[in-house]
Amino acid sequence: MDTSIEPSPPAALPSSEPVARVVLKPRKARPFFGRHPWVLDSAVDRVDGPAADGDVVDLFTDQGKFIARGVYNSQSRIRVRLYTWKAGESLDENFWRARLQAAAGLRAQHGFDDRGQAARLVSSEGDRLSGLVVERYADQLVLQVTAKSMAVRLPLLIPMLQELWQPRGITLRTEREMNKAEGLSLKEGTIVGDVPEGPVFFTEHGVRYGVDLQAGQKTGFFLDQRDNRRAAASYARDRRVLDVCCYTGGFSIAAAALGGAHEVLGIDSSAKAIAVARAHAELNSQTRVQFEEADAFQKLENLYQQRELFGLVIVDPPKFARTRQHVEEAMRAYHQLNRLAVNVLEPGGILVTCSCSGHVTREDFMFTLAEVSERTGRDIQILETRGAAPDHPVNASCLESEYLKCLVCRVG
Ligand code: SAH
Repeated sequence: MDTSIEPSPPAALPSSEPVARVVLKPRKARPFFGRHPWVLDSAVDRVDGPAADGDVVDLFTDQGKFIARGVYNSQSRIRVRLYTWKAGESLDENFWRARLQAAAGLRAQHGFDDRGQAARLVSSEGDRLSGLVVERYADQLVLQVTAKSMAVRLPLLIPMLQELWQPRGITLRTEREMNKAEGLSLKEGTIVGDVPEGPVFFTEHGVRYGVDLQAGQKTGFFLDQRDNRRAAASYARDRRVLDVCCYTGGFSIAAAALGGAHEVLGIDSSAKAIAVARAHAELNSQTRVQFEEADAFQKLENLYQQRELFGLVIVDPPKFARTRQHVEEAMRAYHQLNRLAVNVLEPGGILVTCSCSGHVTREDFMFTLAEVSERTGRDIQILETRGAAPDHPVNASCLESEYLKCLVCRVG
């Protein structure tokens, strides 16, 4: 038979059927029956079979009872990521397509399929696709792969993403730390289609923003804060607003454009972020918004010394607790930053305070506010307890996916 006319075989993909059994140590099985998707190396007793990184494996108790099916990675502390609790379900093309379709369906139901806007289309554990994040900015997709399981399946997943969302281009974003933690060698950049040189513009609650997806000027956007920006803006009318750690100006511009703030000052330590924030103010013809490159702690201290007061202060610092070991240190930083913020709030002013550290619980974060109240002698009333927007669903079995806390408070 002449095989020369046969199409070339697809790039070798990892198995969709289990090639090995991962057996847990005694008394380690409970969280995985509880559908937590991360099996840490410390819980694993042994691997029976020839599992290569990225292969499908089954998880068993030390007593030989099946728990779940997932993907193996010897290079990660998360030794197995679990994807299904149905015995015998293949992790084949249909399986991954169905998961992506479910994510797409949820977005469509909530109105996130508007191509003039931006949305998170796939949110890792929140969409039962641990290790994959997909965001859409207008007609461009941006992918973040944080697990070997997804990295090795990209040749399978990318055509599905194209089919589902028909983007003009797809860009891959990587983080060096993540590549290291999972043993990935992914390279950042355009994967398919056209990605423009300049910014890609989109609308959020009627406000215009741009993100630059190409290396050089690269900027990102925090879509999880979308509805919190609008909520904060609703307290801004005729007030003097301070936006601490403003990044590219989202809360600031929303406060002016949607909220009718009297004036807004946004501060951030990144010169690049401030330059984009100024461009965003101009894009939305907002002349009452000023931005300044400054250290948050220093600037708040200076404003306090100068007896400057604001009616609304927004505090949205970066992740202070990168690991569980950093929680105590992070709590001190949250305390200090919020105390400084309260010091520049007029009586009856509004504090919108955020934490995106997954290791700091909502309760811990509220406790910080109680301590701030004690230290400053100001009463703090929590008016709204908020989280990430609904295109960032939280997996009830993996509370690490509930990382964003946003509290709207009145400070007496
Ligand atoms: N509120 C923003 C997102 C904030 S991200 C939005 O809605 O888009 C956190 C920001 O904190 C980053 O832009 C980072 O540059 C800034 N940052 C980190 N440390 C800082 C410091 N010590 N002082 C001021 N800004 C800081």
